[in-house]
Amino acid sequence: MSELSLSLPQSLPIRDEADVIVLGGGPGGLGSAIAAARHGADVLLVEHYGFLGGMATAGEVNPFMPNHLEKESLDTGIFEEWLERMGTYGGQRGSSRTFDPQAARLAAEDLCKEAGVRLLYHHRLAHSEYSDNRINGIVLHSKSGLSAAQAKQYIDSTGDADLAAMSGCEFNFGNDAGDPHVQPMTLCFKLLLDENDISEGKDPGNYLREINDQIQDAYHRAQDEGRTSNPRENVLMFRGVEDKVVHFNSTRIIHKSSVNGEELSEAEIEGRKQLRELIEILRAEVPLFKNSKLYSIAPQIGIRESRRIVGRYTVTLDDYRRGRTYEDGIARVTYPVDIHNPNGTGTYFIKLPQGAWYEIPYRSLIPTNINNMLVACRAVSADHGTHSSLRVMPPVCSIGQAAGTAAAFAVRDNKDVSDIDGSVIRDQLIKDGRNLVTDAPEMTCPNLDDPERAGMEYNHGADRKPKVLTA
Ligand SMILES: Cc1cc2nc3c(=O)[nH]c(=O)nc-3n(C[C@H](O)[C@H](O)[C@H](O)COP(=O)(O)OP(=O)(O)OC[C@H]3O[C@@H](n4cnc5c(N)ncnc54)[C@H](O)[C@@H]3O)c2cc1C
Repeated sequence: MSELSLSLPQSLPIRDEADVIVLGGGPGGLGSAIAAARHGADVLLVEHYGFLGGMATAGEVNPFMPNHLEKESLDTGIFEEWLERMGTYGGQRGSSRTFDPQAARLAAEDLCKEAGVRLLYHHRLAHSEYSDNRINGIVLHSKSGLSAAQAKQYIDSTGDADLAAMSGCEFNFGNDAGDPHVQPMTLCFKLLLDENDISEGKDPGNYLREINDQIQDAYHRAQDEGRTSNPRENVLMFRGVEDKVVHFNSTRIIHKSSVNGEELSEAEIEGRKQLRELIEILRAEVPLFKNSKLYSIAPQIGIRESRRIVGRYTVTLDDYRRGRTYEDGIARVTYPVDIHNPNGTGTYFIKLPQGAWYEIPYRSLIPTNINNMLVACRAVSADHGTHSSLRVMPPVCSIGQAAGTAAAFAVRDNKDVSDIDGSVIRDQLIKDGRNLVTDAPEMTCPNLDDPERAGMEYNHGADRKPKVLTA
């Protein structure tokens, strides 16, 4: 391969300074930036897009998955405030967790501005300068070219652990059995139903359930006849905020990495190909969609998984199954293991028994080689299985709230985040209204050998029909 010699600058003036720089304004970055600012730090939030929300907005992912014990949210705090604020813009379906991505953008920006977070949009992390286990500064890229920024503490909320990777942190990619492929990407989109296609008196949302077999049969026929390249087992749909809008989380792009620029570009093209195919199938074969219109396509393809850092503690499936708790537990999760098959058809679930949950310890946010950075996004230190549970937006936002609190404490005490005692952060989070418990006993969740658990683990759609696996 021929080479281009470069004349890039060897140094740059430091244009932006802050106590804490948060990279990425998705659910993790929001929780981080707002919490750090509320605890007195001068915070700069750097975001690649011109708006906040990450996958909730740029990826048009919907709805917020429940992370609840009975009706009790485990994500009280900044996440619930965000949702509530969306409601004030009319951006929530009733009291459900279905939301409007436009309202999500506004609500996120409101909360950041009110907390005093400085927002820097349209800037992307390009480089990290690190030595002696500390980040000394970072380089950003924007329309102005390259610029340098410096903070006392950094929070990587890029979802892909970009800052961690650029700072030499160890990470895992793929499953724990050596398969290098991560969960597939999905381009989300919405269709607007035409009034003439809806039978009189029918509520489109409930109606969808009634005609579900018709939709799935049409899709399976198209798969069998080679009219779509989508390997997903079924059409996954949700009601939109508006009655006549149907949200599709249904494309499946496998064997592409979101941290490989060319593959990410290819994934967008494949996602839109599958979208075109699905719309054609639905319009031609399902009367409800005959005259439906394209309502929205997410600005970017949805990324479920990429790098997972190696931190001071790695949360594993064993911890998940046992409902493990920690002195430095900073978030509680009950959402199931939910792995969309990285290699094709099927979605694998392991549900915890009713009322069971596990914790994320503060140590899983701390990389092993850098002291002044936390990773507060889906890329925390966890194995492939547990990642698929904790990655949903509410707990990721709560993880961010813990990271931001810790970063502010580090600045206040003139320490690095790696020296912060996670149990102190947990206590502070409880004071700040997070739904955590002190001295939580380790749970005795029945493990897979327990007959009670039969049917809790299943691979939905491996043969395109729900199938119960016995352990
Ligand atoms: C198709 C799909 C469906 C899903 N379904 C659901 C669901 O129904 N419910 C649910 O709760 N969760 C769902 N999830 C999971 C959830 O959306 C993500 O795991 C979650 O958004 C992760 O949050 P995050 O903050 O870690 O990363 P992200 O939401 O990805 O946010 C990262 C942010 O960082 C910015 N960024 C990235 N790199 C850089 C850089 N180098 N420089 C500057 N900025 C950068 C991005 O622009 C983005 O704003 C789904 C995910 C996908 C992909």
